[in-house]
Amino acid sequence: MSNFLESVNQNFDKAAKHTGLNKGLLEQIKVCNSVYQMRFPVKVGKEYKVIEAYRAQHSHHRLPTKGGIRFSQKVNQDEVVALATLMTYKCAIVDVPFGGAKGGVMISARDFTEKELENITRRYTMELIRKNFIGPGTDVPAPDYGTGSREMAWILDTYLTMKGGDIDAAACVTGKPVHQYGIQGRTEATGRGVFYALKEACSYEDDMKELKLTAGLKGKTMAVQGLGNVGYYTATISQKEGGVKIIAVAEYEGAIYSENGIDIEKLMKYRKKKGSIMGFPGTKKMKSRKDVLTVDCDILVPAALENQITKDNMKKVKAKIIAEAANGPLTATASEYLLKKGTMILPDMYCNAGGVTVSYFEWLKNLSHMRFGRMEKRFDQAKYGNMVDLVERLTGKTIGKKERQLITSGADEIDLVRSGLEETMITAYKEIRGIMKRKKSITDLRTAAFVSAINKISSDYLSLGIWP
Ligand code: NAD
Repeated sequence: MSNFLESVNQNFDKAAKHTGLNKGLLEQIKVCNSVYQMRFPVKVGKEYKVIEAYRAQHSHHRLPTKGGIRFSQKVNQDEVVALATLMTYKCAIVDVPFGGAKGGVMISARDFTEKELENITRRYTMELIRKNFIGPGTDVPAPDYGTGSREMAWILDTYLTMKGGDIDAAACVTGKPVHQYGIQGRTEATGRGVFYALKEACSYEDDMKELKLTAGLKGKTMAVQGLGNVGYYTATISQKEGGVKIIAVAEYEGAIYSENGIDIEKLMKYRKKKGSIMGFPGTKKMKSRKDVLTVDCDILVPAALENQITKDNMKKVKAKIIAEAANGPLTATASEYLLKKGTMILPDMYCNAGGVTVSYFEWLKNLSHMRFGRMEKRFDQAKYGNMVDLVERLTGKTIGKKERQLITSGADEIDLVRSGLEETMITAYKEIRGIMKRKKSITDLRTAAFVSAINKISSDYLSLGIWP
């Protein structure tokens, strides 16, 4: 078994002890229900290349199953199963009514042209259709490492070609471009969710005091590993909306540091132009890209891949808070060590759940065949406008133009998505923290998150009548 899957299962076992549930029921929750391993040929230049790929559906206690598709050279069955497993718990924690799934294609996207990637994505989708591993009510993929809205549009188009008569076909995949049945705010969702998680976690004075920090995000220093979809949005939103100072950043090509802070928007423009973050004005080069993980900072955001903090470097980690934006960035051993040291760890299955939350909103939008806000926006505007008029009439005073606009403007889709996401992340955090505060034997957020997930999933199994 791989380190990653072993870590996920170790964390599960640690939490399961606190639930008092039947052993067989716990075993059913833990195991992966089905894995489809496939190999298919794709023409690359003049050659035929055999591609290895997977789709794992970890749990069918709720349907459809849901989880991203990863393009990475390191993809293997254990990794896909570990990621699908995390998806099950993640959905339960944020009350998204799906089972967990994950897909993986063993390629490095950098090695292929756009057309070749399109062929691979379409062929992979065909394999999933053939085996009934995709569909609005069966299994709904989304973006993950190495994939984005472009790949999701190819998946949708392939699905539509085969299942065109299905009125709900657009709900077969999420993370699509907004103009192709997508939803506003999906691209930023995981990073924005990490930001909301951090904002909530840092708002408790008692918890921050234990870390010798003040409450609130403003002024806290942050180091970020990986400036992809998740890392970039976490960093830029934390900087712009939270007042966080980003002092170190790592990407594929290396790591940079500046105690005065790094402007993420400017850095991204620089990288687009130069093809690298290295040499960004006002920053120093760090020896190795891994050094970003051991920078002296308040918040560390690993947002690249799993197994980044292990027994080899855990003792050098200085951050007081680690927000697991990536899936499984800490091994179970490293996590135990850092918890003992007093580090606060926001576990992946809660911290990066913003993506699946907004994917759920997108799926609902596709099934309702209408954009959020379309029915009520103007109605709300008129209602609040009348109220402001009444207040003005009764008081004889006039409300300023800006204030009037603020009070009377109806919500657009993006406002509703962000509000729904913030509500989800806050509610889930309160739930997890509540479990930890009530049960003295639970001393970390990951165990509390697992307990929350296991309890919800077990009650589903019990009400389904499978376990008398
Ligand atoms: P991505 O491909 O958009 O970005 C990952 C970035 O990390 C890339 O820019 C890559 O160059 C960089 N990177 C890779 N190895 C690195 C290293 N050793 N040091 C520094 N940078 C490195 O992927 P993503 O979608 O942002 O996913 C990142 C992580 O977040 C994964 O673990 C994924 O499973 C998890 N996640 C993603 C989503 C989502 O909605 N995309 C949702 C939940 C969790």
